[in-house]
Amino acid sequence: MENTSKRTAKKDIRKVAKRSQKQKSKRTNEDSITSDSERWMSYDVLRIIFRHLNGKDLTSAAMVCRLWQGAASDEKKTRLWPDCFMVHISKLEEKGKTLGLSIVKHINIQPIVGLVFGVSTINSRIVCESRIMSKKGPGCYCSYLPTQCKSIIFGDHGMIANQIEAECDNDAVSCLFLPKVPNVKIKTFTLTSHAVSHNFKQFAKNRKRPFSQQFDKDMKAVIIFSNDAGSGIISRMLQFFVSERSKTSKEPLSVWGGIATELAICNRKDNKCLVNVSLAGISFSGSDISTWSIVIDDQQRTKEQIEAKLSQLKDCIKLRKYTIGFMLACYQRGVRLHSERNVESSIFKKLFPNIPLVGTFGSGEFGLTTINNDSSQLVTHEWSTIFMILSYG
Ligand SMILES: [Zn+2]
Repeated sequence: MENTSKRTAKKDIRKVAKRSQKQKSKRTNEDSITSDSERWMSYDVLRIIFRHLNGKDLTSAAMVCRLWQGAASDEKKTRLWPDCFMVHISKLEEKGKTLGLSIVKHINIQPIVGLVFGVSTINSRIVCESRIMSKKGPGCYCSYLPTQCKSIIFGDHGMIANQIEAECDNDAVSCLFLPKVPNVKIKTFTLTSHAVSHNFKQFAKNRKRPFSQQFDKDMKAVIIFSNDAGSGIISRMLQFFVSERSKTSKEPLSVWGGIATELAICNRKDNKCLVNVSLAGISFSGSDISTWSIVIDDQQRTKEQIEAKLSQLKDCIKLRKYTIGFMLACYQRGVRLHSERNVESSIFKKLFPNIPLVGTFGSGEFGLTTINNDSSQLVTHEWSTIFMILSYG
């Protein structure tokens, strides 16, 4: 009963929002619509209804009038959770919908950063460098995202969403979008192949300078991806981050990432959407975030060994209000190693049933184990699976 009335109210909101936008463009009857909506919708009622709208509809609702804008903006501020979901491509094709717009319609928060994982062809399906909105196609998918939101699209061998590991499956993508969180700084960085070679030359001259732009002294975790061209510089970059971090804090740096066949980045604010970048990363810093990462290497091949290693992680963590888990596995693991699907993600979900898991398979992995104080660790790996847990709030 309650659900039905909420649904009806939601429909009414959409109708009024749509009508009001039309009226605004014609500049007629604007005041009567606004005052009508204000008469029958108080702020408190709006807040209750707005809880059920997705991010895109909330943005439309905010355009109706000041009251609605205030309620929509306050609702957005409460949505601090990590928003992760899976989108099935074949279902969209049946309905004639685009992948990019469908991803955006799933988002319920106001994102400042996004990650999309899938097979290598997804990059060119959703990222458009020219970003021109044409009549035939919708242009770059970031046209529908908030201006400040940057996203990285990792295309390689499939995707991971909770206990589903889809290898070589071009039917699904796994997505994670994160909101702006108080006392947590999220920064993205990217290098083109030209910038990578420039950084290499700089690195030969001076061991510090080239990466100091990407480093933050409060940095707690870094997600880092590259294509083949960018992979060589990553171990130097990460070693620089780790050694700089150790000068100011005893807490080790969490590292998670890997090598993609295709790596793309959307940066709508700076007008830079690039289908093929060599390196892309996200750093997390600030007082209200805790992170841990662990490398499951080629010594851990059986279910028991993997569970034992992940249990060590479980013993060390102390979660905050919102948490997300990340998994990046070498494409040689998965079915090729275990002869069955979903093995490692299921072990993670067994130990951490309430933590949503996102990730992918790659052709090389970057990671550090933070739960034992081993400063001599390698940051680049093969034949391994890297897990990271990020908890904030
Ligand atoms: Zn874009």
